[in-house]
Amino acid sequence: MASQTIFEEHPEIAKLFPDLHPPLTRQAAVIESDRCLNCFDAPCTSACPTHIDVPRFIKKIASGNLQGSALSILDANVLAASCSRVCPVEVLCEGACVMHRYNKQPIEIARLQRHAMDTFHAKGGSLPMKSDIERPGKIACLGAGPASLAAAAELRQQGYQVTVFDKRPLPGGLNTYGVAEYKLPTSSSLREIQLIADLGVEFRFGIEIADEAALAELEREFDVIFLGVGLGAMQKLVVPGGDHPAVVDALKFIEEYKLGLKTKVVGDVVVVGAGNTAIDAACAAKRLGANSVRILYRRTEEHISAFDFEYEHARHEGVSFDWLTQPVAVHSFDDGLSSIECVAMEIGADGSVKQVTGSSFHIKCDLVIPAIGQSPLLEFLSKFRDLKMDKGCIVVDRATGQTTDPKYFAGGDCVNGGREVVDAVADGKRSGVAIAELLEGAHV
Ligand code: SF4
Repeated sequence: MASQTIFEEHPEIAKLFPDLHPPLTRQAAVIESDRCLNCFDAPCTSACPTHIDVPRFIKKIASGNLQGSALSILDANVLAASCSRVCPVEVLCEGACVMHRYNKQPIEIARLQRHAMDTFHAKGGSLPMKSDIERPGKIACLGAGPASLAAAAELRQQGYQVTVFDKRPLPGGLNTYGVAEYKLPTSSSLREIQLIADLGVEFRFGIEIADEAALAELEREFDVIFLGVGLGAMQKLVVPGGDHPAVVDALKFIEEYKLGLKTKVVGDVVVVGAGNTAIDAACAAKRLGANSVRILYRRTEEHISAFDFEYEHARHEGVSFDWLTQPVAVHSFDDGLSSIECVAMEIGADGSVKQVTGSSFHIKCDLVIPAIGQSPLLEFLSKFRDLKMDKGCIVVDRATGQTTDPKYFAGGDCVNGGREVVDAVADGKRSGVAIAELLEGAHV
């Protein structure tokens, strides 16, 4: 797998995206791990969707057993390096830490996890097999994002043959292409996926299973198919002028700079939407040189879907926010954009949002980045037979991830509509365990 990134090619750009949370030194990690109370029935572990045994791995750091610490983490979460960087720990493990009850700082679980994982990777660690025999049963995982990777790793570790398909040239899904570089560098995402490839998982890139013939072929070759296809394209800004080339959706914008296709942003930037992806795009635009970056949102500060710490980070980076503002048109001239036309909004007593009559105004801009959510992959998924859908998402048995067609399992964003990486990893692992049980039963 190729792992070269923009920052290996353009170190001057790397300087623009230093780590959001710099790694702990060895000494700092030991001091921090010594603060942990090793709670019985640890709430931090319960709050983690993958149920990492937090006190166990922290105790191993304190005793100097970093290899053991990393293996303990990886046993629960095979993408633990990514998760240590991108998890919203403030609302998960660290948010649940008992230290809050004593008015103390919660244990820095994410940075300790990263310390263990970085050391593991630096020392060339590898994932252990859970079985020393090759078992009969072939599994295809569609999509090479976190859910598929977790399912693939679990199944391969148990001795099954697994092939991961993706239409893109690199694995990792949003971890590789869609998370801001200051949170998770592409090279880090690819480095941990290499461990899964080293187990013997096969990757086939540039392949899209998009018609009946390809599907039938897949079903002939594989016993079980896991769907980890994520969500579809970002929703378009449907206003006059919204199809101008200088209107670039947030995921495309992030992907372009992460792959080194965009190394500079000039002029004034407007981001539409106030979720975490909008924040990632806005902060990146600022770091890449934008003169100004404004986020437009049709409701108010209390309604944004971005986490509080993401919002604070954006403000700290110099991104400004225009509340109760709705775009209605994008205006351009020969060489580019001139402005985005907006109207003021107001929230009625019943909570509905409506335009304020006669409130139209213009904001000068050179680039518009819509970040208004991704559409479910209805068109693709509707081609599968016997798969029950609900609001564009695949319906599964929550305990196993099995769909209404017993040959298919599913997990991650295509099931939950778009949650965290760690939720997708939990789904994938759960399905991996369930598929192994199913195949074990089928071959006795
Ligand atoms: Fe340690 Fe906090 Fe978890 Fe207790 S809740 S085990 S103190 S990290």
